[in-house]
Amino acid sequence: MIRNWLRNFMVGRYGPDQLYFALFFTAIILAIIASITGLGIISVISYLLLIIAFYRLLSKNIYKRRAENDRFLRFWWPVKMWFRNRFSRLKCSKTHCFFRCPGCRNVLRVPRGKGKIQITCPKCGQRFEKKT
Ligand SMILES: [Zn+2]
Repeated sequence: MIRNWLRNFMVGRYGPDQLYFALFFTAIILAIIASITGLGIISVISYLLLIIAFYRLLSKNIYKRRAENDRFLRFWWPVKMWFRNRFSRLKCSKTHCFFRCPGCRNVLRVPRGKGKIQITCPKCGQRFEKKT
């Protein structure tokens, strides 16, 4: 009964997407921060994000919501990749060192514990010495 009602209610509505989940989780995190710090403004922002999230969820302007999500993903992708890079670097930081090439800023991975070694950048061919 309730499921049927919900299904009818959601017909033609946009539904959840990545931006919805991002707004939802940010709102929850802000609500937790607000309850710890007791700052009213943070809980107001948290409620606003929840309202926006549900507004988008129930919106019938699917074209516009999809465009918003696309814009969000374009911003989110580099952030996600940055965190993924940091994480994978952290994971092998025991066995490898990371250096930035002075020529092209490319990040190079070198095995640890080899002493002073000559590194050649595979991207631009620049050579430099580092202790590992
Ligand atoms: Zn280089």
